[in-house]
Amino acid sequence: MEDDDASERKMRFLFQLRSRGVTDPRVLAAMERIDRGEFVRGQFAERAYDDMPLPIPCGQTISQPSVVGLMTQALETGPRDTVLEVGTGSGYQAAVLSGLVRRVYTVDRHRRLVTEAQALFDRLGLTNITAQVADGSRGLPDQAPFDRILVTAAAEDPPGPLLAQLKIGGIMVVPVGQSDAVQTLIRVRRGEDGFDYDELRQVRFVPLVEGLGQT
Ligand code: SAH
Repeated sequence: MEDDDASERKMRFLFQLRSRGVTDPRVLAAMERIDRGEFVRGQFAERAYDDMPLPIPCGQTISQPSVVGLMTQALETGPRDTVLEVGTGSGYQAAVLSGLVRRVYTVDRHRRLVTEAQALFDRLGLTNITAQVADGSRGLPDQAPFDRILVTAAAEDPPGPLLAQLKIGGIMVVPVGQSDAVQTLIRVRRGEDGFDYDELRQVRFVPLVEGLGQT
C-alpha cells in the first residue's frame, strides 16, 4: 500500500510540475530522483509534495517545487558544469542540481542550515555537492569562475561579485527586487562583450542579506 501511495504521490508531483511549465525532461527526471520529503521536517512534512514554499529553520523557506523546476530549467545546465548556488536553505535545490551537473557548491549565511543540508547530502549519497558557510553576495572566490550561478534569495540588483565570477558563456539566474514586494526572476548571460539580461517571471523569495547569520 505504502508503495502505491508513494508512486501516486510522485506522479501527482510530476504532473503538477509539468502543468506549471517545467517541461525539460532532464529537469523532470532530476526532480523525480530527489524526494522533497527528505528536505522538509516537522509539522510541515505532510505538505512536502504540494506545490508551495514551506518554512525551514532559521526563519527561511524551501522554495515551491515548480519554482525550483523553472529556475533549474532557466539555468540550461550541461553535465560538465560547475554551479554555485547562493542560499542552501534546506538543500533541496542543490540536490536537484547535483543530478544535472558535475559539481555544485552551495553556500548559506546560516551555519545550522549548511550543517543539516551537508548531513543530508552525505546520507543520500550526493557526493558532488559541497555546502559551505559564506556570505554568498560575495560569491565564492576560491572556487570561481562558475559555468552557472543560481541565487535563491532576492537581491536589489544582481550582485557585482557574482557577475564577476561567471565564466564567459555562463548563465546566472537571480530574483531581483525589494524583499517585501514581488520580485522579477532575471536570467543573465555573460557574452564576450558583456552581459545580456532577460526577465523570466514574477517570484517571491526571502531577501539576500549581507554578512553571516547568528546561527
Ligand atoms: N534554495 C533553498 C531555499 C533558499 S531560501 C532550498 O532549496 O531550500 C534562501 C536562503 O538564502 C536562506 O537559507 C538564507 O539564509 C540564504 N541567504 C540569504 N542571504 C544570503 C547570503 N548573503 N549568503 C548566503 N546565503 C544567504
